[in-house]
Amino acid sequence: MDKFVYQFSEGNKDQKDLLGGKGANLAEMTRLGLPVPPGFIVTTEACRHYLKHDRLPDDLRVQVTMALRRLEDEVGRRLGDSVDPLLVSVRSGAKYSMPGMMETVLNVGLNDFSVKGLIEASGDERFVWDSYRRLIQMFGKTVLGMEGEDFSRVIEAAKQAKGVTSDLELDAQDLRQLVEDFKAVVEEKSGRSFPQDPREQLDLATRAVFESWNTDRARVYRRRERIPEDAGTAVNVCTMVFGNLGETSGTGVCFTRDPSTGKPGVYGDYLVNAQGEDVVSGIRNTLSLDDFAEVDPDSYQSLRTIMRRLETHYRDLCDIEFTVERGKLWMLQTRVGKRTAAAAFRIATQLVDEQLITMDEALERVGGAQLAQLMFPQFDTDAERTRFTQGMAASPGAAVGKVVFDSATAVAWAARGESVVLVRKETNPEDLEGMIAATGILTSRGGKTSHAAVVARGMGKTAVCGAESLDVDEEQQVARADGVTMHEGDVLSVDGSTGEVFVGRLPVVASPVVTYLEEGLEAALVGVDEGTADLIQAVDRLLAHADAVRTMQVRANADTGQDAERARRMGAEGIGLCRTEHMFLGDRRVLIERVILAETAAERADALVALLPPQRADFVELLAAMDGLPTTIRLLDPPLHEFLPDRADLMVKVARAEEQGAASDDDTRLLAAVNRLHESNPMLGLRGVRLGLAVPGLFAGQIRAIAEAAAERVKAGHDPRPEIMVPLVGSLMELHLVRQEATRILAEVAEAEGVDLEIPVGTMIELPRAALTAFRIAEEADFFSFGTNDLTQTTWGFSRDDVEAAFFAAYLEKGVFTVSPFESLDVDGVGRLVDIATREGRGTRPGLKAGVCGEHGGDPDSIHFFHQAGLDYVSCSPFRVPVARLEAGRAVL
Ligand code: ADP
Ligand code: MG
Ligand code: MG
Repeated sequence: MDKFVYQFSEGNKDQKDLLGGKGANLAEMTRLGLPVPPGFIVTTEACRHYLKHDRLPDDLRVQVTMALRRLEDEVGRRLGDSVDPLLVSVRSGAKYSMPGMMETVLNVGLNDFSVKGLIEASGDERFVWDSYRRLIQMFGKTVLGMEGEDFSRVIEAAKQAKGVTSDLELDAQDLRQLVEDFKAVVEEKSGRSFPQDPREQLDLATRAVFESWNTDRARVYRRRERIPEDAGTAVNVCTMVFGNLGETSGTGVCFTRDPSTGKPGVYGDYLVNAQGEDVVSGIRNTLSLDDFAEVDPDSYQSLRTIMRRLETHYRDLCDIEFTVERGKLWMLQTRVGKRTAAAAFRIATQLVDEQLITMDEALERVGGAQLAQLMFPQFDTDAERTRFTQGMAASPGAAVGKVVFDSATAVAWAARGESVVLVRKETNPEDLEGMIAATGILTSRGGKTSHAAVVARGMGKTAVCGAESLDVDEEQQVARADGVTMHEGDVLSVDGSTGEVFVGRLPVVASPVVTYLEEGLEAALVGVDEGTADLIQAVDRLLAHADAVRTMQVRANADTGQDAERARRMGAEGIGLCRTEHMFLGDRRVLIERVILAETAAERADALVALLPPQRADFVELLAAMDGLPTTIRLLDPPLHEFLPDRADLMVKVARAEEQGAASDDDTRLLAAVNRLHESNPMLGLRGVRLGLAVPGLFAGQIRAIAEAAAERVKAGHDPRPEIMVPLVGSLMELHLVRQEATRILAEVAEAEGVDLEIPVGTMIELPRAALTAFRIAEEADFFSFGTNDLTQTTWGFSRDDVEAAFFAAYLEKGVFTVSPFESLDVDGVGRLVDIATREGRGTRPGLKAGVCGEHGGDPDSIHFFHQAGLDYVSCSPFRVPVARLEAGRAVL
């Protein structure tokens, strides 16, 4: 018999797959002897079974009965008894935290009999009727599929009848009546009565939690966070404790360090006389932990001891939910907490300094995506600014956008390319799509632990929460603060790092982390505050450690001396791709136009000679910037018509001119050439090595320019290390022909200039045929460089420019991709080709140097794959170089 149910005391934190994150950690805390209300966990396996077969596993009923009886014996109370009844919460909890995405039902076990028992036991009649009406409400919504409206209408009516405005003014008798009214609404709307049998409540709630795995918002969240669709959720059945039993009770959320800045010291929110949900939803303003210490010093002390214990145990930032029932502290949840990028770097190094983790572990806890976030620009503090409001710095970043007040508008406006700031009183899981669409989020309620803050941090989205001076009127679609009114469409600048919000568009400046990366530690530390200094030093230490452990080199894709210099400052160890086509743009376009239009061999030779000096000058600059480091220069790749005017424009121009009998000869010739070179599928047309073989002298000229530039540098006493790279090779013969020519030219230049020129000639591997015949191509290649953009296009048979907008969204939706293969390497297909080519190429030529120069070279997941495939280097844009250094280090661990 499969085991579908675990007591809290039976599991541990490493069983997240089976018990879900919440369950595994409840079990761990129980094992540690912390005060966790006893309970049991129905496994994710039971959920997967339910979702697959549409019914619960046969064994489950019996196992739940056994677990429930054990629980009842342990606490000495019975579920739904008429004397001192046991109540439980039925809580969802998947392997990956999905804050607020799925359902939880509290107070299960209350019915017309057990209310009496609870009234006697608690001595608080109002509290009991309030709990009962909450149960019917939650049960109606999550289990019976009713609308929140169905219930809120009844509450409003009750308040009106009594002539009061607040829920708190309803007394025990009113709430008792409300329970009756709620039961009637349930019958009316759901066609069944509210189940009085406690076990039936439990079973139905369990089933509803399983079902909540598939709500729209849960799906949206999973897609966004790349959480597998088939993992399922566990169900945690947990003895209820009550934070709403008066002034000596309450509920809270806390972190063992500040999750938004990483500042050392605990952080949290506490709400007196409340149930858990109330803190997170930001309905009331909360107390800080310091205030909690004043209100209830004993519970506070116990909490601090437990926080320290948990942090030592998990050796990481912990995020904790707790409740105090009449002065007794209970732990309801913990997990390793989500944090911002800055907090991740700072906390990782703090823990190293506290000797809780090693540098290797610290490196595992930060990521390239986080580093990239830290490199985003920030608002210019010197700019003139008008402050709109101030809230909690909930999730950092500098967001500028138009104000919108609801999720649907955020989605619609973002879809037409606008940046929007979503302004709400508070957010709830229904706002998720709007939050994803927005560049920034601003709320008037809730703290750093509110839904908006937690979700924004998880997504790396800028957010300011709990701006107290802000009055958001969602109906009227206006937000007011300090006498300023913002309407839909007005522009706000949201600073998630300071909590400030400004009217209009503020200019941005480079982040201090970029200053550090470009100018070094000392320069970056001048004049920054303590937190920033701490962050910069953390980044510096972790990058240094990554550099020390990584085995892959990191190069940059750079076409100009200037880019190359910047890349070198960012830590590039060479250039993996210099695209020479950029050298033919602007003023020089006419030079290449002349090559294309040449009618005789002599004319073409002249035109090619004219191209030589400017290219040579560019190469000299590049080789100077990369002196002593490998510099891979790719011969011309794009189809020639890209250098000619647009065909349609030219046709119109010539036709007009002809009408007036004044067509110029040049234009007519140009149009003929454009027509001759026109291709239906340029990506698969005359480009790359094909161009080199079809247009005599084109590659020869480029090779000569490289050789002469290198010779000039050598003669000046420098150390140029150019490498010549041939694009789009599919067969050995293609490479052979170019290489033959290169060998001849290099020898010629070496002799003429009187220098030694050892310039390797290698090839890109960007066609499946090249990958599959790599064992042959390696005979003539001094190195391989995987062009994973083209290799992805040619392996899948689609062109990025043509299809990305057309069907990628649908493919992501339908789960054909979990991520675009242009963003993160398709390991199964394209990766397999990389693997085959590397292995078989090295079979022919042991030690063959192989690298990657597609955009994947800067993508964290792809970098890990390239490391495993045994590549020597990745090359990416200069700005991604630090990201690649960090990830190449992490890939080793
Ligand atoms: P989520 O995954 O959305 O955080 P939880 O399962 O943690 O949902 O439950 C939501 C809230 O309900 C929590 O904040 C917690 O404080 C409260 N809660 C859950 N179980 C209990 C319980 N047994 N006793 C008291 N409060 C509970
Ligand atoms: Mg929770
Ligand atoms: Mg290519």
